[in-house]
This record gives sequence, structure tokens and C-alpha cells, in this order.
Amino acid sequence: MEFRSEYEIKKEIIEIGRRCWVKGWVAANDGNISVKISPNEILTTVTGVSKGFLNMDMIVKVDLDGNLIEGTKKPSSELPMHLMVYKVRQDVNAVLHTHPPYATGFAVSGISMEECVLPEIILTMGSIPLSPYGTPSTDEVPDAIKPYIEKYEGVLMKNHGALTLGKDLQEAYYRMESLEHAAKIIFISKQLGGVSLLKEEDVKKLEVVRKKYNIPEDKPLCKINSSNKNIDRDLLDEVVKRVKEKLSTLKEGSKNE
Ligand SMILES: [Zn+2]
Repeated sequence: MEFRSEYEIKKEIIEIGRRCWVKGWVAANDGNISVKISPNEILTTVTGVSKGFLNMDMIVKVDLDGNLIEGTKKPSSELPMHLMVYKVRQDVNAVLHTHPPYATGFAVSGISMEECVLPEIILTMGSIPLSPYGTPSTDEVPDAIKPYIEKYEGVLMKNHGALTLGKDLQEAYYRMESLEHAAKIIFISKQLGGVSLLKEEDVKKLEVVRKKYNIPEDKPLCKINSSNKNIDRDLLDEVVKRVKEKLSTLKEGSKNE
């Protein structure tokens, strides 16, 4: 990996914060960003500031236990969640937390994004689970998401928002972008009459492509359930149509009695 100075990384945190705000993923002082810069040093945004207007003073350095090493302001109240991720995942060097409206809508409705819908998500993040609710700024948050972040690259946080991880901040940001984009597409397709799931055989083909991308085999894939099974949809439609016809003839018959 190319060497980047702390100054450059802070500049990137400011830029990613600005993008999250422009995209409407954070209102007021929502969200937090962190980057691991050495085995025991983390740069993180401070508490109580808009991510759209960060400056160098609003990023402090802490150790893996959360002790302040550099800077005067108080780190984000969700810092324990970020620190937990770095302790659990050695391959992760950046953590991004925002409240993107579509993805958060799923999290508030209690709907996960684990179904096999979009190839792009299956090829990159596999699927996006929904973690249980935890009171913000308490240990409940890291405890609730811990079982998920062990394997997943992004997670919806019940009644709260979303979290994405990356080998660097750019990757964590792109994952948040993909997650919110997918949530928006799925939301729109629900309005248009329903989400059509990929067939099991198509998911299997994506699994082969994932291998080419060197995505480890233990990384979760989307959830295959009975609705992905290879059923003859035309036949199913025909059966439904006939049952409806039969029911209406029966109704008509009972009216005439
Ligand atoms: Zn939050």
C-alpha cells in the first residue's frame, strides 16, 4: 500500500465527510468516520460537528483503547463501535457510520438487505444484514453489531443507520454508496410492484465470478430461499389465474342460490 501522511489521511476524512453530507446521509452532527493509521493509532472525527464542514481540528488521534493521543476535542461518542471493529477485523483500516435515508428506512422497517437482488452487491459485499437495536453512545451498539462485522463488510443498524468497513476509507465510502444505492433501487422496485429475486442458478454463477475477484469463500453470499428456486413462473401465474377464476365462479354460484 502506498504511504500516505497523516495530513493526507485527514484531508481524505474531511472530503469523505463532505460527500456524506452532500448526499444527505448525515443530518446535523450525525455520523462518524475513523481510519487506522498504525497498529495502535486511529484518527477519528470528534463529537458534535457536522461531517459536511470538518476541519483538521475536528479529527483527533486515539489509541485502540480510546485514549486521546493527539488533539483537544472529544472523540465521537460512537468511538467504542469503531474500536471494536478494529479489534475484531485485522484487515479493516477504515470505518464509516452514517444514516442514509433509504438504507435507514430498511433498518427502521426491520427489513434486512440479504436477499439475492443485485449482482453488484452480491459480487462486492455479498449481502447486508440487519443488526439488533442498541442505544446510541452506549456499549449496546458495539455489542449489537459485533456478530455481524466479523464477516460482513456492511451492516444495517436497527432503528439507527448503517456501518461500512474497508481496507481504506475510499473502500468504506464506496461500500456505503453501494449500500444506499441498492436500498434505493429495492425501495423503488417495491413501489413498482415487487422485487424479483435472482434465481439460484444465477447466484451460483455469481459465486464463480466472486472467486475470480479473489473474494474469500467464507464471505457471506446473499440468502437463497424458496423464492429463488427454479420454478416455472408462467406455470405458477397460470395456476393462480385458474384458482382466481374458480373462486369467482364459486362466488357467483353462491349469489345465485
Ligand atoms: Zn448514528
